[in-house]
Amino acid sequence: MRMEFSRKLPDPTETKDMLPLSEELTAAVKKQTAELKAILSGQSDRIVLIIGPCSADSEDSVLDYVSRLVPVQEKVKDRILIVPRIYTNKPRTTGEGYKGLVHQPDPNARPNLLRGIITTRELHMRVVKETGFAGADEMLYPENYPYLDDLLGYVAVGARSVEDQQHRLTASAVDCPVGMKNPTSGDLTVMMNGILAAQHQHDFIYRSWEGHSLGNPYAHAILRGYVNQQGVSYPNYHYETLRHLEELYARWELRNPAAVIDCNHANSGKNPFEQPRILKEVLLSGRSNPGIRKLVKGFMIESYLEDGNQPVGGGVYGKSITDACLGWDKSERLIYDAAEML
Ligand code: PEP
Ligand code: MN
Repeated sequence: MRMEFSRKLPDPTETKDMLPLSEELTAAVKKQTAELKAILSGQSDRIVLIIGPCSADSEDSVLDYVSRLVPVQEKVKDRILIVPRIYTNKPRTTGEGYKGLVHQPDPNARPNLLRGIITTRELHMRVVKETGFAGADEMLYPENYPYLDDLLGYVAVGARSVEDQQHRLTASAVDCPVGMKNPTSGDLTVMMNGILAAQHQHDFIYRSWEGHSLGNPYAHAILRGYVNQQGVSYPNYHYETLRHLEELYARWELRNPAAVIDCNHANSGKNPFEQPRILKEVLLSGRSNPGIRKLVKGFMIESYLEDGNQPVGGGVYGKSITDACLGWDKSERLIYDAAEML
């Protein structure tokens, strides 16, 4: 291989021995996962709001952000379950750029994967301990999932990974709800195939073991918009697409039909200020059609302390260094507006 191996990293068991999760925090994660499952199965008619920065680039500002969600969650708890987005792994279209906390615990320094593994686990643990929330993260590298499997309330498989077999098979072993995004091309069949694979049992090689997954009945769709062959963004949150997804679910015989609408990315054309309008439009579509209201179980919002984004090293506290986000004041308003519409 054209690769140098500089040091052996601790495996997930060793990392958990170093940073164990207490019984009390384990119970907090389980509680949130159970609430999410109740929403995805239709036992609860609340909606889920996965909200937070595109990338969790610094412990301080992320914890500051998530702490602000605590009193808001209390006010809207009858209608909304908040799951903070704590994305520590970032997919990059060309492989270039900031790849997330796990690669660069200090975005301004060189990659440090050992420090990254520890910082990532520490951050997710601090979130549970200090706020009671269990976060959402993207499963970008399936073999890394066991570093965090006891801490996450929600897992997403990204648009660039959803057609990959190892992602699909690993999703079938994930214990919490897993959202499968539509691919960047927008092909909904690829996403449905991903959900189908994730809902079933599989035998496969996983971290040098012969593994047998149990299937994840809470695997579901995330609509994130798409980009056509000319590079133009198109949304897929409109009434017609949601009706179409409802029909696809009816044909595919999947358990717990559900869709989460990612209001940023190609749905907003990466304009984060469109997110409140998109969320409200989808809620209105649900009002006109009970099938859509039943199908759409939640939303994903990219939000941080400050509006917009900045280059890596930009130095503004709480401002995204990846996709542009909706700032705190507008995000708080959005959550209260959503609660009022429900
Ligand atoms: C993201 O959620 O920040 C992301 C990279 O999403 P997608 O996989 O939809 O591009
Ligand atoms: Mn993003």
